[in-house]
Amino acid sequence: MHIAVYPGSFDPVTNGHLDIIERASKLCDKLIVAVLDNPSKMPMFTVEERVKHLELILKDKPDIEVRSFSGLLVDFAKSVGSNIVVRGLRGVTDFSYEFQMALTNRSLDSDIETLFISADTQYLFFSSSQVKEIALFGGNIDNMVPRIIKDEIYKKVVKTQGMQKSGGI
Ligand code: ADP
Repeated sequence: MHIAVYPGSFDPVTNGHLDIIERASKLCDKLIVAVLDNPSKMPMFTVEERVKHLELILKDKPDIEVRSFSGLLVDFAKSVGSNIVVRGLRGVTDFSYEFQMALTNRSLDSDIETLFISADTQYLFFSSSQVKEIALFGGNIDNMVPRIIKDEIYKKVVKTQGMQKSGGI
């Protein structure tokens, strides 16, 4: 059985991520979407919230599992019986970083193969950070994220702004 792992921050998950998930899941028997628990990145959503979003969105896909992980990706992949890492590529900027990550992962574990999937042109300019920035200024993110998490993003933005005003963060 071919198990692939698609790791990322997914803070928040965008329609670009979902396109990669959909396409990657057709290439393997089981796809594990692995949400990185890295508090030093100061995420907008906690890892539990990000896992919950993905589970909600992917609830009707039996071949896709959502997990969180911390530490080395190669260790997580091994622990779930996978040696295939999926990453999305939006262009040359992604490529230099992703290529370096792929080589690093192979140097840590020579069994690991990274599978790059090119972004669909309609999602080429979507990123989690762009979604957060647009939401922060009250812009329209309708075509960038799944409908069911849109309100959660606006709510979180309002909460974060409130905390900043009161000196909370
Ligand atoms: P990370 O912090 O690990 O880069 P992200 O959640 O930003 O996590 O991205 C996870 C993966 O999804 C990366 O391989 C990234 O290049 C890819 N990705 C992000 N946005 C898109 C998009 N719009 N289309 C295709 N791939 C994307």
